[in-house]
Amino acid sequence: MMNRQGRPSAPGTAGRAGAADTVLGHRGLDHEEALIFEQGQEGRTGVDLPPVPAVEGRLGALARKGPIGLPGLSEPQVVRHYVRLSRRNYAIDMGLYPLGSCTMKHNPRLNEKLARLPGFADLHPLAPPSTTAGAVELMATLAHWLKVLTGMPAVALSPKAGAHGELCGIMAIRAAHVAKGEGAVRTRILVPESAHGTNPATAAYCGFKVDPVPATADGRVDLAALKAKLGPDVAAIMLTNPNTCGLFERDIREIADAVHGVGGYFYCDGANFNAIVGRVRPGDLGVDAMHINLHKTFSTPHGGGGPGSGPVVLSAALAPFAPLPWVVETDSGFALVEDAAGQSFGRLTAFHGQMGMYVRALAYMFSHGADGLAQASSDAVLAANYIQARLADVMTAAFDGPCMHEALFDDRFLKDTGVTTLDFAKAMIDEGYHPMTMYFPLVVHGAMLIEPTESESRESLDEFIAVMRRLAEAARAGETERFAGAPHYAPRRRLDETAAARKPVLRWTPPAPAQAAE
Ligand SMILES: *Cc1c(COP(=O)(O)O)cnc(C)c1O
Repeated sequence: MMNRQGRPSAPGTAGRAGAADTVLGHRGLDHEEALIFEQGQEGRTGVDLPPVPAVEGRLGALARKGPIGLPGLSEPQVVRHYVRLSRRNYAIDMGLYPLGSCTMKHNPRLNEKLARLPGFADLHPLAPPSTTAGAVELMATLAHWLKVLTGMPAVALSPKAGAHGELCGIMAIRAAHVAKGEGAVRTRILVPESAHGTNPATAAYCGFKVDPVPATADGRVDLAALKAKLGPDVAAIMLTNPNTCGLFERDIREIADAVHGVGGYFYCDGANFNAIVGRVRPGDLGVDAMHINLHKTFSTPHGGGGPGSGPVVLSAALAPFAPLPWVVETDSGFALVEDAAGQSFGRLTAFHGQMGMYVRALAYMFSHGADGLAQASSDAVLAANYIQARLADVMTAAFDGPCMHEALFDDRFLKDTGVTTLDFAKAMIDEGYHPMTMYFPLVVHGAMLIEPTESESRESLDEFIAVMRRLAEAARAGETERFAGAPHYAPRRRLDETAAARKPVLRWTPPAPAQAAE
């Protein structure tokens, strides 16, 4: 059956027990929704614009020849389209979002209120400095507290994501080696096998050879293997702590000393700072550079919910190479340094970074205070350990002992059930949960990485645990039909993820114009 837009109705709903096809493919109060371009009609508009005055075109051959192709829609059509789509999305504002390593925690509304103050929200990056003193002071204040919380002497605020922060840190490290005349010999960066994919990608992007360091059976960096790899060509190590197995690297000081011993730098991936903020200062661990995901630890929105921000704290050795701009305090107040010569490796991005995220992060810090931040990281660790402990008898924890902020399971508990980690994750969608991170870290077979964060109440954790227990029991009991082909209740069924990755359709092509009726 085809719907109004000539698409199969209710795609993927076959197999839902007892559900008859509906007339237009809508299900319950969820609408089958065509692309906005398919809904558009020429000449329809939500605004009444004055006629275009006759002007002399000065674009010459550059003038557009065809229509721009924007869909013509009324205001209610646009509003309905996006509201309908938003109902298909999952968000931290809808429920527990256990996506490990992503720290999907609540974004306090106080942060949003402050970021919307006109003095911040309406700021233009080219506004005269005499009118932006307050914003620059806010940047200085945020920088100050990031330095205090990390125990580091300098911070570059401008990187716009964690991965961008990695780029900043590795560029500073490269600049430091070049300044010492060792740019040509420092060609190798050590990256543990459990690292986030952005770490080796950053090292390779900056022209370094990526040398993987194996993990021990207890999920930590193999110190002996690491030491065996050290040499005069090592530029740096990129290490995550707590690592992506959700474990604290016990040998972190020894690792830092060993890398420093051969003249290398210690880049710490600080994306998991949420587990230790207010309790451990990375500067005390021998770190030279570390990005902080404001959109994780400091609760600014993520992904589709807003731009990220990944400031990088730097040790005294790397501080001179920090990118422009930075904030200084002068006799007449705070100012942005935008064109200092010196040893800075230059500019990483246009303008000054994500101002709205700076406001939100500082609001989060100030509303929590020192005690609140330490409480948040403790609660994040407690919540993960609660999940790990309550699921220990039905699922299989990847490593013995307590975890930090995320609980990591492998797929041994699914052995001989015919259910895979992927099936299990898809079945969680039917139960109303976004799946956990799966098949990452790569060092754990069929990995399921669950990060509940401190946002969840005891009741919310208990509900999630009840669902996970029931699913694990169903898999063991041979109830394979609820897993094979899951999700059954989502607007779309199981997608062909390989085809989506290998042959993505990234461009909408308009259908051929319909033939006029005879
Ligand atoms: C999230 C994350 C990153 C990357 O951060 P983005 O802001 O997504 O670029 C890097 N490393 C780890 C361990 C992470 O969890």
